[in-house]
Amino acid sequence: MKKNKIAVAVALCMAAVLTACGGTAKTETTKAAGAETTKAGAETTKAGAETTKAGAESSAAGGKLVMVTNAEFPPYEYHDNNDIVGIDADIAKAIADKMGMELEIQDMAFDSLIPAVQSGKADFTAAGMTVNEDRKKNVDFTDTYAQAAQVIIVKDGSDIKVPADLDGKKIGVQTGTTGDIYAGDIKDANINRYNKGMEAVMALTQGKIDAVVIDREPAKVFVKENAGLKILDEAFTEEEYAIAVKKGNTELLEKMNAAIKELKDSGELQKIVDKYITAE
Ligand code: GLN
Repeated sequence: MKKNKIAVAVALCMAAVLTACGGTAKTETTKAAGAETTKAGAETTKAGAETTKAGAESSAAGGKLVMVTNAEFPPYEYHDNNDIVGIDADIAKAIADKMGMELEIQDMAFDSLIPAVQSGKADFTAAGMTVNEDRKKNVDFTDTYAQAAQVIIVKDGSDIKVPADLDGKKIGVQTGTTGDIYAGDIKDANINRYNKGMEAVMALTQGKIDAVVIDREPAKVFVKENAGLKILDEAFTEEEYAIAVKKGNTELLEKMNAAIKELKDSGELQKIVDKYITAE
């Protein structure tokens, strides 16, 4: 479908030699986005699909969905050479496929994701994002697609054994995450904010902080990669992930929910999870 459209566009451009078509062939989309794009995105740009700053609406109309994420969150989203891969990337691709649309993924800071969706720069964010009441005021969430938790990482031998032991401790979090938000409830906590979860984990290994509050699956990856760390048995919070779209974009929300339901019912969603998370 898309290819045919591109072929027609190219044919039209050829017919209108040296006319305005040339203007649409520049790589502005990619540059303006200022971030990595998927191969599909790059091809679209080359083929001359026009997107504007208005982003969401125009790109959606052009058969492309723009997703924003923070690719520092394995196994949900991370860099693999020049690609952004992970559970969210695969789920988003499967949803886009079901909707007959292309997917472009852009990487940005976690606390820029909701603003990007609100402004229409992106159609949606899939970023291991926890549904919470505050965020619901700014974006609309799809049905949830994963159970999650904030857990506590400490050094082996730490005197922090349960969440209550965090009182008065130096705690590392990733800026703007639920770990950051809920760590604020800890009595006399000294919160240290980092742009990437991994940076908080590094600070812990270096003894600069006493614990890291972060999502369970990334925590497992980071603990595996760094000797001398462990995850406490008792979780800090229980949460659920969902995709967020611009407030009031019910058309996209409903289409995404229908696709998520199909992915759940067919077992495809579980297959994606199993590809990245091996059972213990
Ligand atoms: N689940 C956490 C949140 O929504 C962290 C997500 C992330 O760092 N990508 O705030």
